[in-house]
Amino acid sequence: MIEVPPYRPPSEANSTLIRVTRGCPWNRCAFCGMYKTEKFQIRNTEDVKKDILAASKFMHSNTVFFGDSDNLVHPDIAEISEFAVEKLNPERITSYGRLKTASSMSTKALRGIRNSGLTRLHFGLESGDDKTLEMIKKGITFREAVEGGKKAKRAGFEVSLYILSGITERWEEHALNSAMAVNAIEPDFVRLRTITVIPSTILWHRMKKGAYAPLDPVTRLKEVKLFVENIECETTLYSDHVSNYLWNRRGIFYTGISGKLPKEKEKMVDELDRAIRLAADFERKGELIDSNMLASSGRILL
Ligand code: SF4
Repeated sequence: MIEVPPYRPPSEANSTLIRVTRGCPWNRCAFCGMYKTEKFQIRNTEDVKKDILAASKFMHSNTVFFGDSDNLVHPDIAEISEFAVEKLNPERITSYGRLKTASSMSTKALRGIRNSGLTRLHFGLESGDDKTLEMIKKGITFREAVEGGKKAKRAGFEVSLYILSGITERWEEHALNSAMAVNAIEPDFVRLRTITVIPSTILWHRMKKGAYAPLDPVTRLKEVKLFVENIECETTLYSDHVSNYLWNRRGIFYTGISGKLPKEKEKMVDELDRAIRLAADFERKGELIDSNMLASSGRILL
């Protein structure tokens, strides 16, 4: 039986999923519960190749995704990518990676991986604000994140950066410094996720003790607006996750903003202004619902 990664980005929903490593070599982020029960392991290269070979017999996708959270640490990642290209002939191979790992690698080593056929990396930046990065235990600084992202870009990767909104009371610094990191890295994609506090994570324990609370939805939208207003590089922004949605009693009224920056900035800011007005109105009426409220009552699983 093929071993598949338990998580993949929404954009890889139709990809052939290949597990190259298991779990996360860091596994300490305060908001993350993804691999808490998984001990990090580098999978045996021959076993991964057997899975690729098996997938080639019945998978017919044009794209391939490698899990789990940081395959740049696999010593044979280039060999595995080359094998996947040979057997699966995909249009693209994508993987999660850690910016910290990329920052510690040479551009030459990254280019070798890129040239083997792995073309896109998904990095969780979460924030460009050092104090926020420390608070969420991301294990990286602004400087290291920018270095890692720029190296990946220089090596020829398409870079997809994840930003976590609503995570901190320092929302203005978080928005401005995250925009600064994005402007420095110039990623191909920026993907917004809204913090949803997951049971058993460090943030969940802090929240239970009254030592942490995610931002309210209206302030969170103001933070996203400030972030978008300050992005100056060319990139494509997506809010491709249910955590960004807002509901009232009748259903979803906001699904997040998406579009090309800077070309569609004005349109996105207008959408955010409208969402802020609606959210404030529903909040006044006691009708505003966000992903945290749904998750805490078990109505959505993230
Ligand atoms: S967010 Fe990413 S780096 Fe952090 S613990 Fe989770 S999988 Fe690991």
